[in-house]
Amino acid sequence: MSEAGNDSPWTATVLTLFPAMFPGPLGQSLAGRALQAGKWRLDALDIRDFARDKHRSVDDTPFGGGAGMVMRPDVLDRAIRAARRPGYKLIYLSPRGRLLTQDTVIALSAEPGVTLICGRFEGVDERVLQAHGAEEMSVGDYVLSGGEPAAMVLIDACVRLLPGVMGNAETSAEESFTDGLLEYPHYTRPALWRDADGREWAAPDILVSGHHEKVKSWRRAEAERLTRERRPDLWMKYLCGTAVEAAVGK
Ligand code: SAH
Repeated sequence: MSEAGNDSPWTATVLTLFPAMFPGPLGQSLAGRALQAGKWRLDALDIRDFARDKHRSVDDTPFGGGAGMVMRPDVLDRAIRAARRPGYKLIYLSPRGRLLTQDTVIALSAEPGVTLICGRFEGVDERVLQAHGAEEMSVGDYVLSGGEPAAMVLIDACVRLLPGVMGNAETSAEESFTDGLLEYPHYTRPALWRDADGREWAAPDILVSGHHEKVKSWRRAEAERLTRERRPDLWMKYLCGTAVEAAVGK
């Protein structure tokens, strides 16, 4: 926090029809402790508060027909205008959006915060997204019933990267995706574990040996093996990146 007066923590403003869902899981454990400690802020705004008619309606039937309801542009527009802050990205959680990746999470956590729109029903009127230049982001190729769980995923991933949120013990330097690879497997005591069926499972000798250099190269090899086996898409990217680094002599 600088002394120039910009002392507000990273802030997630969430536009939702279900504000009572927040903080929910974000109020527990790492994110919850950080929230309590004022290391980030959460404002959940009820979109319904911006409805003007006596039934406080927020949705209507889709033009052109078809199943379901669509969130009205006028109501959502008022909510966005009330929530928007200069310098904050406006993001609509949507299965049509760009897939959320760790690179995006790192970039978002370096901003002052985010403003998130959670859709419900069939989604929201396209015009209000265009009018505000909302960016669409997806948490995966599947359909949720609402944007709230997706918003929680995005916020959780950002918050753990904020300064002072993860302790040394929870450092993120070697995590999955940080260097383009999935993470190596973990083991803890006992070194020889006997399961309930009487089978014995030994932790890898190299790890137990405590030989720092050998541990490092074993972990690297395992990370590469897992990435190659499970995520050929990431593996190809990783190989290309390594080839480019070699070419430019990095
Ligand atoms: N009819 C839409 C799905 C609507 S689901 C379609 O086929 O694309 C209702 C809401 O859930 C959406 O408005 C969006 O905000 C949220 N949502 C659903 N799946 C999501 C995902 N994979 N990522 C982010 N948000 C999602």
